Amino acid sequence: MTATTELKSRAHQLVEAARELFVAGVMSHSGHANLSVRLDAERFLLTPGFVRDLQPDQLATVSLDGRVLAGELRSVSVEIITMHSVVYRARPHVGAIIHTHSPAATAFAVAHRPLPCRTEPMLRFGQAEEVPVVPWGPRGSDVSVRGIAEVLERRPTTSAVLLANHGLLVFGPDAAATGQLVVAIEESAEAELAAAAIGGAVDFPEGALESVRTSIARVAS
Ligand SMILES: [Zn+2]
Repeated sequence: MTATTELKSRAHQLVEAARELFVAGVMSHSGHANLSVRLDAERFLLTPGFVRDLQPDQLATVSLDGRVLAGELRSVSVEIITMHSVVYRARPHVGAIIHTHSPAATAFAVAHRPLPCRTEPMLRFGQAEEVPVVPWGPRGSDVSVRGIAEVLERRPTTSAVLLANHGLLVFGPDAAATGQLVVAIEESAEAELAAAAIGGAVDFPEGALESVRTSIARVAS
């Protein structure tokens, strides 16, 4: 595939993943989200500041050090470049990142409560551990970015973090898989909240998460 075809294909995958988030019903009322896909070691495609009715040619190409190389970003989106680049830097195998304010996951973020892994979809889509909370910092600030970097270092196998008082940040090998994990996490958060009314969610049997983590590590290596 030529570089241009490759770029077009990734742009298309990103737009499709954004559309799926709306179809799956995991978006907040505002429809706020930002998505990115990695192009290479130095560049990624980023949504321009909106995701509703997004078209592939509206994506911006940005560098990991924060420069807009092609396309345009709304000024609010410039702040979120670092939220994405810190993940790409920390995780060389990550190919796509999605940030949403999915309501149930955001409830955990607002309550500063890690989201436990207690549902089959979370296991299946690659989050065989709780989703940790990153302490709050203003969006795109050094405090916020450093917080994300620290949690990623402390939790080398997590594929998602909750941003305290803010929302959800999920990352994976490509846009489709990352979108599926966003949906699985939102479903899990909804199930946790619903189960709380009838006695509370219960952990998987002892050893279940470890065995899935081991098989994920085997596939990834
Ligand atoms: Zn946000």
